[in-house]
Amino acid sequence: MPPRQTTAARPAIDGARLAALLAEINSHGANPATGGYDRPAFSPADMAARRAFLAAMEADGLVAHMDAAGNVIGRIGPPGPAILIGSHLDTVASGGPLDGALGCAVALECVRAIRDAGVRLTSPIAVVATADEEGRFGGMLGSQALAGVLPDGWAERATDSAGVRLADAMRAAGLDASRLADAALAPGSVRAFLELHIEQGPVLEVEGIDIGIATAVSGCAVLDVVLEGAANHSGTTPMDMRRDAFVGLSRIGAALPAVARDHGTGDARLTIGAAALSPNAAHTIPGRADCTIILRDMSGEAMDALTAAVLALVEEAAEAERLAATVTVRSRLEPVALDPALQAAFARSAAALPGTSARTMPSGAGHDAQTMAALCPSALLFVPSRGGISHAPDEFTPWPAIERGAAVFLATVAGLATA
Ligand SMILES: [Zn+2]
Repeated sequence: MPPRQTTAARPAIDGARLAALLAEINSHGANPATGGYDRPAFSPADMAARRAFLAAMEADGLVAHMDAAGNVIGRIGPPGPAILIGSHLDTVASGGPLDGALGCAVALECVRAIRDAGVRLTSPIAVVATADEEGRFGGMLGSQALAGVLPDGWAERATDSAGVRLADAMRAAGLDASRLADAALAPGSVRAFLELHIEQGPVLEVEGIDIGIATAVSGCAVLDVVLEGAANHSGTTPMDMRRDAFVGLSRIGAALPAVARDHGTGDARLTIGAAALSPNAAHTIPGRADCTIILRDMSGEAMDALTAAVLALVEEAAEAERLAATVTVRSRLEPVALDPALQAAFARSAAALPGTSARTMPSGAGHDAQTMAALCPSALLFVPSRGGISHAPDEFTPWPAIERGAAVFLATVAGLATA
């Protein structure tokens, strides 16, 4: 068969159109007091952003709907298994303008660019804006529902940190939590899932690299630690007669870098981000310390080794300070490898764009792509984050870097959907 003549132009990102779409998304939930964006999952602002994104997709000729989980999905092209692209629209409290929203906007801009160039699709493209990626209710509800991996009975039990039930929040948003299973995509109906996201870390900026291609998403375990000693007067209790829970906690915190270095891979991360003393009074020796250790690494074996090392460390610190200690592994998500062929496709697209540097890297943060990997080959492309800052109003990526990342993403999507 002779090669098909094509009159289509190479699709190109329209930066102004992309910026306008991003601004439209961020017109929902903007918080002038903090300069950030408040679109917690299923809040009025989140739902308004979803409806606006749905309307934008329909205006662009996509066949779009909101599913039972609140994901909005629009599809264009011939029948058959789709190339699914997108990210999430919800934010943390006072989040930045790019986390999630950028990946949704880039996905729809890719479809617009492909349509404008007159490219003939051989695979359909589906754009998705997922629901509750930020885990208001403790999971990644939207992508878990799409991938059909919501744990049995979880949705009925799930509440947010204020005690609001998922079912009630969904009902207030016009959704029915008892129908969540309806959102599952049929296995085989999706060829691949691709997501563009900000790095949310400092590596690309520090190294002066344009594009990050994620190889894997780290696993994450949550360990609750309780140390119990004796609360007592800070003036009358001699130093050698104390059972000071904070001193025990300090030993643990100070030793975490060495534990990560000695028992994890180079990608190990150990963090105490939340701790509480009791009674927490300036003149009283704390009798109890509670903390949460977040443990991340790129291999299950390394997570096992780190967990064992943390247990030993807590025991050692408790013994040294004559404390009682308990450690509970509250949850554990395994590391997820991303698709090597899709990583290679991103790398080829980056190499073909003049002046573009790229590197592979692990993702220390969780993303929808890790959940979607249970359903189909999945991939994740990063653009740099200034100062590594995210989940904060001053989250920022220079616009030329966004356009470059979007161009690499577009070339990859167009390649897959015309192959
Ligand atoms: Zn995100």
